[in-house]
Amino acid sequence: MKNIAVVGSGTMGNGIAHVFAQYDYKVSLIDISEEALTKAIKNIASNLDRMIAKQTITEADKERTLSNISTHSSMKLGVQDCDLAIEAVSENINLKLKIFKDLDEFCKHSCILASNTSSISISQIGAVTKRGDKVIGMHFMNPVPVMKLVEVIRGYLTSDKVCTTINELSVRIGKIPCEVQDYPGFISNRVLIPMINEAIFALHERVSNVRDIDMVMRFGMNHPMGPLQLADFIGLDVVLDILNVLHDGFKNPKYAPCPLLVNMVRAGHLGKKTGSGFYKYKDGSKDLVMADHFRHW
Ligand code: NAD
Repeated sequence: MKNIAVVGSGTMGNGIAHVFAQYDYKVSLIDISEEALTKAIKNIASNLDRMIAKQTITEADKERTLSNISTHSSMKLGVQDCDLAIEAVSENINLKLKIFKDLDEFCKHSCILASNTSSISISQIGAVTKRGDKVIGMHFMNPVPVMKLVEVIRGYLTSDKVCTTINELSVRIGKIPCEVQDYPGFISNRVLIPMINEAIFALHERVSNVRDIDMVMRFGMNHPMGPLQLADFIGLDVVLDILNVLHDGFKNPKYAPCPLLVNMVRAGHLGKKTGSGFYKYKDGSKDLVMADHFRHW
């Protein structure tokens, strides 16, 4: 395996391209937006600069990594020679199904097709192609160059051989693959998101306040970040979407989103990206300040 295509050059796509290029794979980075492609290359270059500053790579490594990446706005041209195509477009099922139909048509027969989806069924994606045995999930974590985990998701149709290939490849790019079956939320979100929801319920029921709920988990359980702060970082709309995927997928009331979370999303307080969630965020400030709504909770 030498040539990798990455479809979608946003937050995850540019990180995935960065890692493969750093390990000397030839990467074809594809996006419908030229602006997104330009931004992706800039982002990769500045992440590489940060690594140079930390002395984990050299200037020559940076040049080599960047020279391994080509950009394309046409998927048909971009995937021509690839051995593996990794889709990282926005989390929209119709868009992903269309991309996989196109990948199935444009990629050579031996090419493995992977999705970085956080919540869409790999079995359903595989079923719209004529190569369900070669369709698999590669769920990278954000930021991709830093986070070690790749959840390798085995769809109903995925073959053993393809699972083994993707596990081995993940190790080769310095990651730790964990194989999981294709059920809602896989493992990462099935375990993490209900914990966050429970923290929000505890706040909603006034068992404690924002600061203390987070401190219990940081200093009692050694979590690097409390669950409410983490929710702000992920985006409260994303947390709600994932809870709805778990709730709809398992039809189990234990995954019902906390009404407080629903209200915050309706109010547009989505966490760090909107400047306010459980905490409030000012550009440049590192202080953790509770949002006004929760100050006298
Ligand atoms: P993003 O919005 O940052 O990037 C999506 C990119 O896809 C954009 O650049 C957009 O122009 C491009 N795109 C849209 N339609 C396209 C098309 N038809 N062809 C080519 N490119 C197209 O999204 P993201 O946060 O990088 O998420 C991508 C995927 O990764 C989603 O499935 C998401 O669930 C998953 N994911 C995200 C995170 C995260 O923390 N952001 C973590 C794990 C998994």
